[in-house]
Amino acid sequence: MRMERTLVLIKPDALQRGLVGKIITRFEEKGLKMVGCKMMSLDEALLREHYAHIADKPFFPGVSQFMKSSPVLAMCFEGLEAVEAVRLITGVTKARQADGGTIRGDFAMSVSCNVIHTSDSLETAEKEVPRFFKADELHEYYKSEYEHVYNEEERE
Ligand code: ADP
Repeated sequence: MRMERTLVLIKPDALQRGLVGKIITRFEEKGLKMVGCKMMSLDEALLREHYAHIADKPFFPGVSQFMKSSPVLAMCFEGLEAVEAVRLITGVTKARQADGGTIRGDFAMSVSCNVIHTSDSLETAEKEVPRFFKADELHEYYKSEYEHVYNEEERE
């Protein structure tokens, strides 16, 4: 089965509200493996590329301003079918409507201040991970927990 890598950004609202640790804990407790992590200040060029699909929306300048209002924490998580698993625990964009138990559902009330960004498909993740991480910033290592997170067949 397929091990995938996906991008997670902890957004400025979560940094300001001191939610970084709690959010990382959600991913760790799910059984995902952190293979990259760094604090970054995003510039306009990177944001235009990252948010190209909303760049012509009237709310884009506000999103851009918000994403530059403090650093973000960029992380890369790895796991079996990790892109979908992470997206499911993220919750829908409009956080007021996000299911309880999801990160947005539990920690946010806004459509823009929605605490995290996560890649929305494998195709997107394959573009987003290298956009935020150089090859030597992503780490390969053995995680003993995998023996308990996955069955033998899933680990192959
Ligand atoms: P997601 O982050 O869930 O993948 P999108 O890719 O559609 O959602 O949008 C990117 C980001 O743009 C959202 O996370 C949110 O911060 C912001 N955004 C989306 N829609 C709106 C909106 N109607 N008003 C303000 N900000 C929005």
